[in-house]
Amino acid sequence: MSVLNSAVEQTICAPLPVLGRDVLVPLVTGGEVTYAALDYAASAPALQRVWDDVAGYAPYYGSVHRGAGYLSQLSTDLFEQSRTTVAEFLGCRPDDQLVFTRSTTDSLNLLAAVLPPGTRVFVFETEHHASLLPWRDGEVTYLNAPRTPREAVDTLERALADRAPYGPALVCVTGASNVTGELWPVRELAAAAHAHGARIVLDAAQLAPHHPVDIAGLDVDYVAFSGHKLYAPFGAGVLAGRADWLQAAEPYLAGGGASRRVARRADGAVDVEWHSTAARHEAGSPNVIGVYAIASACRALTEAGFGALVAREQALVSRVLSGLAEIPQVKVLSLFGEQAPRVGVISFVVEGWNSSHFAAALSAEYGIGVRDGLFCAHPLVRTLLGGEPDAVGECGAPEAEPGERSLNAIRVSFGAGT
Ligand code: PLP
Repeated sequence: MSVLNSAVEQTICAPLPVLGRDVLVPLVTGGEVTYAALDYAASAPALQRVWDDVAGYAPYYGSVHRGAGYLSQLSTDLFEQSRTTVAEFLGCRPDDQLVFTRSTTDSLNLLAAVLPPGTRVFVFETEHHASLLPWRDGEVTYLNAPRTPREAVDTLERALADRAPYGPALVCVTGASNVTGELWPVRELAAAAHAHGARIVLDAAQLAPHHPVDIAGLDVDYVAFSGHKLYAPFGAGVLAGRADWLQAAEPYLAGGGASRRVARRADGAVDVEWHSTAARHEAGSPNVIGVYAIASACRALTEAGFGALVAREQALVSRVLSGLAEIPQVKVLSLFGEQAPRVGVISFVVEGWNSSHFAAALSAEYGIGVRDGLFCAHPLVRTLLGGEPDAVGECGAPEAEPGERSLNAIRVSFGAGT
């Protein structure tokens, strides 16, 4: 613990005024405390534009789809306009449905809940737990970690060709890894899925903040992402894609807003007619502010132009990678090879250091906030670190003594949006 202790010794414990809690802040003698939050992959800072838009709307917000008053009407309009904005941002097809959820995790669980009975799901073991775990037991085929994008496509093709009996199938794949930042061959995987009669859902949690996501252009059937990684706070997410499975299934949540008509029958039971629109899966009062914030972030990113954002981010990626390459003790983690294209998400280990202690020291001594641990992708991190023992904790750090080979990693992540 000596490294961590020395880091802690060099910090002061100060009350955080808003929460009234004690927090560790970097001790700086003279000058200003600066803090670099390089953990965009977990939650990106909200854009000023989003805060401004939300502040402009906040005095007027009201219930949606359930009020005759002016504020309700205004909020309903803005809510539905937000749906259109986000659908345009994602390049949705005219007959796609877009459901507002709480997050990517919620979106993928929603999709798992509406799969036609007997759907076989194909998922690489390298996925974030949000895309690895929601599927029904016994109906999932886990695919081994590929070491090249070509191998990913070949592995999927073989698995789909072997499947029996022939029935509905869904492939779930990430657009950009939350561990390595590497881009997955989404278009090729979609073509392979479709060639074998399967559908594909794109986990765009890490892709959407960095690259344009074009459902129609990539030819994926569904896309899921979270607002809080796309420079919008307030806990809202999106599932967009083919309407038929969404319309045929029971509502994800039963309740007001999802039902068109509810009546008692003569035998005392209750008959329900559910909506066939997105409202079917949006029961309860929705997160109006969160949805408005996502739409605001989508507009801001579209106006900034992904061409410029990608160029700026790639310059930062190169700078970080070449800086890390100069430190012999640092090993950058990569599935597809260090030259593989990636977004601004870079994980590494430092020889002779426990990653958690290293991350704590970065925060305490330098005011650099990074993430340490297994990043909710245990099988992937284990593969990248060479088959390490089981981790303790969901996304956090397993136990290790200082100086031992790291069982977990350090991640820096950033974007050009802010
Ligand atoms: N998928 C990926 C690739 C992620 O990186 C994350 C979060 O880190 C998720 C899904 C889950 O997102 P959320 O926590 O917003 O549900």
